[in-house]
Amino acid sequence: MNSPDLIQPEKLLSILFKSPNATAVYTGSEITIVSANQAMIDFWGKDKSVIGKTMAEAIPELRDQPFIDILKNVWNTGETYTARDRAAVLKVNDVLQTFYFDFEYKALLDENGKTEYILHTAFEVTERNKAERLVEEKSRSEQKLINDLSALNEEYMATNEDLISKHDELFASNNELIKTKKELLTANYTLGESEKRFKTLVEKAPVAMASLKGENFEVEIVNDLVLKIWNKGRSVIGLPLEKALPELAGQLFIEILKNVYKTGEAYYGMEDKALIEEDGKLVERYLNFVYQPIFDEKKNSTSILIVASDVTEQVKARESVTEINNRLEIALDASKLGSTEVDLTTGIMQSNAQFKFNYGYMPHEEFNYPDLFEAMLPEYREPVKALVQEAIRTNGIYKAEYPVKWRDGSIHWLQAHGRPRYDDKGVANRMVGMNSDITDKKLIEQRKDDFLSVASHELKTPLTAVKASIQLLNRIKDRPYSPIHVKLMEQSDRGIEKMCMLVDDLLNMSKMGQDQLSLDLLKFNMLEMLSNSCSHISLEDDYKITFNCDENIEVVADQNRIEQVVTNFINNAVKYGKNSKEIHINVEVEDEFVKVSVKDFGQGIPESAIPFVFDRYYRAEHLGKSYSGLGLGLYICSEIIKKHSGKIGVKSKMDEGSTFWFMLPINNN
Ligand code: ADP
Repeated sequence: MNSPDLIQPEKLLSILFKSPNATAVYTGSEITIVSANQAMIDFWGKDKSVIGKTMAEAIPELRDQPFIDILKNVWNTGETYTARDRAAVLKVNDVLQTFYFDFEYKALLDENGKTEYILHTAFEVTERNKAERLVEEKSRSEQKLINDLSALNEEYMATNEDLISKHDELFASNNELIKTKKELLTANYTLGESEKRFKTLVEKAPVAMASLKGENFEVEIVNDLVLKIWNKGRSVIGLPLEKALPELAGQLFIEILKNVYKTGEAYYGMEDKALIEEDGKLVERYLNFVYQPIFDEKKNSTSILIVASDVTEQVKARESVTEINNRLEIALDASKLGSTEVDLTTGIMQSNAQFKFNYGYMPHEEFNYPDLFEAMLPEYREPVKALVQEAIRTNGIYKAEYPVKWRDGSIHWLQAHGRPRYDDKGVANRMVGMNSDITDKKLIEQRKDDFLSVASHELKTPLTAVKASIQLLNRIKDRPYSPIHVKLMEQSDRGIEKMCMLVDDLLNMSKMGQDQLSLDLLKFNMLEMLSNSCSHISLEDDYKITFNCDENIEVVADQNRIEQVVTNFINNAVKYGKNSKEIHINVEVEDEFVKVSVKDFGQGIPESAIPFVFDRYYRAEHLGKSYSGLGLGLYICSEIIKKHSGKIGVKSKMDEGSTFWFMLPINNN
């Protein structure tokens, strides 16, 4: 405890804000924050709004930690409190995290000796703490070695009082362990007569050990394990390390050894990379090791003892796990696959962002097993649970497809796979799963089903008419030829013509699907082609088709295919043209393209349907009227135009009509 200080608050605050160290000032028995500099606010993971609040209000996560009570005690007693390496759990970036701090709560007293302010200074030492823990871990693993060493030493240590006392210390305190070992080894080493035994000890040690003598680090004693790491034979004995392992030139080890020799301070290497020569090539090895200096009576270094273990396998294994994880993540990302792991006892899920997104959750939102079933449409819950249970029972994979309702009300179809994991007792405790959004696929499936029913219906209508006509013709076949015969034949002809068109569309569609559409490119005159395309519109029906086209316009394209597109536009203009009998065909040249538009004055297309009219199987709803069709015509048109590197589109307004257009490059190669 330090003695309390007398200080003016104004002076204090000015110092405070200049300080690069995290500093804060509190007052009152409830520890109200008077002021805090940015460094401190950053530690807390908060913002300036904490000023003026009590500590408990400003940093609620501290309520069940000891700090506020300690501060209250400082306030009441006026006694400064300091601590080192103290863990504090703080909510930073919305995540509770543990940090380590060295800090001081300094009581600043008024003239009457009562606490007026508390000055809080803090240094974050999380990294240092981590490093210390690593060293601790390492020293624990070395304890075993030291124990072994001591056991081997016991025999001659018995003859040396000094050694015995140090040996006892070794077991007495864990903290003293490393120091003791140093002293122990120094003592051993200085005992000239014991050198031989020391040599035996190193040679028999269960870990790689070597002793390097003098400032040239002459290889003095080695065991087989160190030779294995070095990939050298016993011939290296007596050579300076630089000659024994020439590949170390340019690596850091010799420099470190020099430093250890000079300063007398041991060096701990953690997973340090060494390049060792093997069959003329440099091979990577990862080593955990200690360079332990050994001293003479005057505390001067005489040699360095190396204790090492080769951790290449572990490092490589970890690297490959990291690599596999990275690859998996890339694959998951690219395929928009969500992945998760469910703790079956608590229902808590660890999911990637895509998994949550598939249920309409943001990455930072909590999403657990109950939320998953809540999102699922109710009628799917029990069947999916049954599939999961079955997978658990058989140690199999479950696969399910189900719709989920996002919190915004939209419905999305998901495909999910999962596999149970079992604990040592064979109880399923986890489920590893994947999901993906299959809404689009489901929509296409749905359209395909609808299409099949429409297609069969569409074919059935003319077929019925043809069948009826032929039956009638059959009945009157023996009667003299009459206008009824002619009418029936015409009727069946129309039915067959209609069926042919439908079958053509179906064939075209399957060709498009397999990208088998080939073009026969030739130069042709636009106006001639357009006139051909309209010839089938019967004049009896009073259609008024107007052309606005320069008679010289020519393009290179597949004339039959383009005619097919125009015919489709015109047929649609007739079909959806309601009572209007007017169709305008316009041709203009825009940049390097010829643009052909077919305008009708029919009922138009609902705005929401416009983006889909060129999709396969798509048929818009036309209020109050149903039209026959497969929803394929415009899809086929757009495929033909795309194949020509052209563009296609529509402009439409309800009750005013539609203008379908396409553009072809004039010089199509
Ligand atoms: P369909 O066989 O249904 O006519 P299309 O692919 O030719 O198939 O057209 C797709 C949909 O686009 C039609 O179902 C219709 O709703 C709409 N459509 C096409 N042309 C017109 C038009 N000129 N006026 C209004 N709607 C049209």
